[in-house]
Amino acid sequence: MDSKDLTKEYTNGEVTIIWKNALCQHAAECVKNNPDVFKPKEKPWIHPENSSTKKIIDTVNKCPSGALTYKMNNHE
Ligand code: SF4
Repeated sequence: MDSKDLTKEYTNGEVTIIWKNALCQHAAECVKNNPDVFKPKEKPWIHPENSSTKKIIDTVNKCPSGALTYKMNNHE
């Protein structure tokens, strides 16, 4: 029961997933779309090294709550 307002970042070197605990509705869209990366039973629960950057971005864009965003590590 973690109600703290946390922001966590997880990177595969190319893209960084940003997850905001307070916004997450645990709808598990991310888990459905990319189970290799989003493993709610593990700690840490996000494993970006298990997926391609494109698939990570697609999954992040499907998060219904806005809890997930991403940033590219290298611009240009
Ligand atoms: S899809 Fe978004 S709201 Fe749903 S569990 Fe994943 S991070 Fe949380």
